[in-house]
Amino acid sequence: MASGSLAEATQSGASADARPGSARPVVTRFAPSPTGFLHIGGARTALFNWLYARHHGGKYLLRVEDTDRARSTEAAIGAIFDGLSWLGLEGDEEAVFQFARTERHAEVARKLIEAGHAYRCYMTQEELAAHRAKAQEERRPFRLVSPWRDADEGSWPAAEPFVVRIKAPREGETVIEDLVQGTVTVRNEEIDDFVLLRSDGTPTYMLAVVVDDHDMGVTHVIRGDDHLNNAFRQLAIIDAMGAIEGWERPLYGHVPLIHGADGAKLSKRHGALGVDSYRDELGILPEALFNYLLRLGWGHGDDEIIAREQAVEWFDIAHVGKSPSRFDLAKLQNLNGHYMREADDGRLASLVAQRMGGTANLDLLTRAMPVLKVRARDLNELAEGAAFLFATRPLPLTEKAAALLTEDARARLGSVHEHLAQEADWTVESLEGSLKAMAETLGIGLGKLAQPLRAALTGQTTSPGIFDVLVLLGREESLARIAAQVATPAGSQV
Ligand code: GLU
Repeated sequence: MASGSLAEATQSGASADARPGSARPVVTRFAPSPTGFLHIGGARTALFNWLYARHHGGKYLLRVEDTDRARSTEAAIGAIFDGLSWLGLEGDEEAVFQFARTERHAEVARKLIEAGHAYRCYMTQEELAAHRAKAQEERRPFRLVSPWRDADEGSWPAAEPFVVRIKAPREGETVIEDLVQGTVTVRNEEIDDFVLLRSDGTPTYMLAVVVDDHDMGVTHVIRGDDHLNNAFRQLAIIDAMGAIEGWERPLYGHVPLIHGADGAKLSKRHGALGVDSYRDELGILPEALFNYLLRLGWGHGDDEIIAREQAVEWFDIAHVGKSPSRFDLAKLQNLNGHYMREADDGRLASLVAQRMGGTANLDLLTRAMPVLKVRARDLNELAEGAAFLFATRPLPLTEKAAALLTEDARARLGSVHEHLAQEADWTVESLEGSLKAMAETLGIGLGKLAQPLRAALTGQTTSPGIFDVLVLLGREESLARIAAQVATPAGSQV
């Protein structure tokens, strides 16, 4: 079966959600292959499965598809669990590891053989290659027709290596009422007798997925639409086991992949990073990524800010869009800015303190948070904005700040120092009243005092409100920073 032929399957309007009348409680699963980090697409698949289960009062399970022994790593498994728990998407039960279930997969293959739904195929690599070459020569798509499909057991060569193939139906068609894609139909002649067990006896991905989904009681398979073609093959196994043991088909929801802002398939260039990079490098909060991923391909009217509980209440798979969604980093950062403003100050302070390498005073950071967090879109910006609080004298000045501190400005700072040194009440209100009065007396705008003051106190030309800065630094440190600049000749420090 060429995947292209299945991709051309007819698709029509989305069908309704849920399993009306089904007695089975909803069970969803997220089944990552631990060959790399938890990427943004995987995280969204996990999120949709989690939401679907929560919305329907069902269960959400995890399965680690670690059968590719060469490419599966402990580090990747760790990163995936870590990313999921950071997003609050841990499974409801202990995760299932696929590789540990190999024997069970093989048992199902044996049952399929016994019931005549699968067979031992002794074709050699050379024979397969010859079939393929012939198809190519005749310019027809390659469909495997194994001479062993209908051979009886008596003719099996005892010592030769063999694979186990499904005896896929040849007539009729298979229809999936996909919860996202709508009705998708494939003619059964397009589905070849694919391999269930390799010649070394190990199960293929196709078999393992189906057996595990069944044994885990999965009712809804929600995953990337790159697996839509696989669903038709998987149904061949499920239907065969249905005939033997009454296995039921799950419902499918194949979610379109995520593309970059330019419409091309998401790559690293677009920000297709691991979830850990969003946390560690980009300084994104989990609730912001949660909200962003939710809105990526699913919507509830024009609502942009959708918190966790609200998402559980509103989520339905029928409103997942059929076309790929576009990843937009700026949008994620804006959402993150929103969630930072909402976040608890103590929590933000400890996140920022971690970024500052443990040198920060948590109490001061927490007190500063209300004025810092409104000015930042991510934890990096927040840490940058907080740095002045912990700077040591003499403060390093940005180029702009240094340019501001002209001789005149330093002279004015001298007066400000004198003035503030008299200040009895070191509060925002009183400092503001006092500096305004001073500017008025001098006949200059407040900015003429505030700008050099900001440069002296923070080393920068932008910062939270200058009176907030004075209060956060406190009388002693503020006066010391001002004095340090008054004592420095203009232009001598950058
Ligand atoms: N392990 C597969 C993947 O990571 C997912 C399989 C499935 O969801 O059925 O792409």
